[in-house]
Amino acid sequence: MSKRFFVDEPVVGERTQLTGSEAEHLIRVLRAKPGDEVILFDDSGWEYPSRIVALGRSLVDLLILQRQQIDRELSPPLLLAVALPKGDRQRWLVEKMVELGVTELIPLKTDRGVAQPVDRALQRLRRAVVEASKQCGRNRLMTITQPRTISECLAAAPHECQFWLAHPGGCSEPLHQLLASAKPLPILAMVGPEGGFSDQEIATCGPECRRISLGCRTLRIETAALALASVVSLITRDDSVGPFFCQNSPCA
Ligand code: SAM
Repeated sequence: MSKRFFVDEPVVGERTQLTGSEAEHLIRVLRAKPGDEVILFDDSGWEYPSRIVALGRSLVDLLILQRQQIDRELSPPLLLAVALPKGDRQRWLVEKMVELGVTELIPLKTDRGVAQPVDRALQRLRRAVVEASKQCGRNRLMTITQPRTISECLAAAPHECQFWLAHPGGCSEPLHQLLASAKPLPILAMVGPEGGFSDQEIATCGPECRRISLGCRTLRIETAALALASVVSLITRDDSVGPFFCQNSPCA
């Protein structure tokens, strides 16, 4: 049983309430009773071991037992701009990116990309972020921004960001080589559509942007995103690249 529940308002004071689908899940699926204990999180970076005091038809009253600031985020952050694949593959991608610690997912508008997710689809993907965060122990939600072009991504990137563009082919640096010289600064990495990035898009990135190879095979969009995020999430644990980020695994 997942004992983590998301509260969509900041938890303040000694009592709080779960409503909506989170309450429904506790009441009808898990058949919780007064006295049962769960962990709440509210996207503040804190989590709150809590005890159920009362259950209504679609509302759960809880007593906050403790407040713990537990950081399971990557630091420096990883922003991943991806030309989203179609259909169910989007949800799968979102779930895996949450598990791997991606800070922000940017649906990338590209010359050869498919239609962008509309607001309703983005809402569904944000719901998937909550579900994955409950499961993997993150106390901050991965942000999913509105769709952006490459130029918009570059303009919105944090100060002193490293820019990487995943692009198959001989002119790209192997990822392991790039990692050896990576700095402990935020990373904005971009993954293109099924048809790849256009020459114009590659030119838009400018010389500061490093082109990276993920091997000699052509990966699907979500495989490329997964490979990139998993490697970055592992090296952020390496002192040779920077401070050690993720000290608080849920089973620590
Ligand atoms: N024929 C396309 C091309 O040459 O770019 C293949 C596109 S691939 C299906 C989708 C995206 O995944 C690419 O735009 C790139 O960002 C990433 N990708 C796939 N395989 C890769 C590899 N071996 N190295 C680097 N990036 C890769």
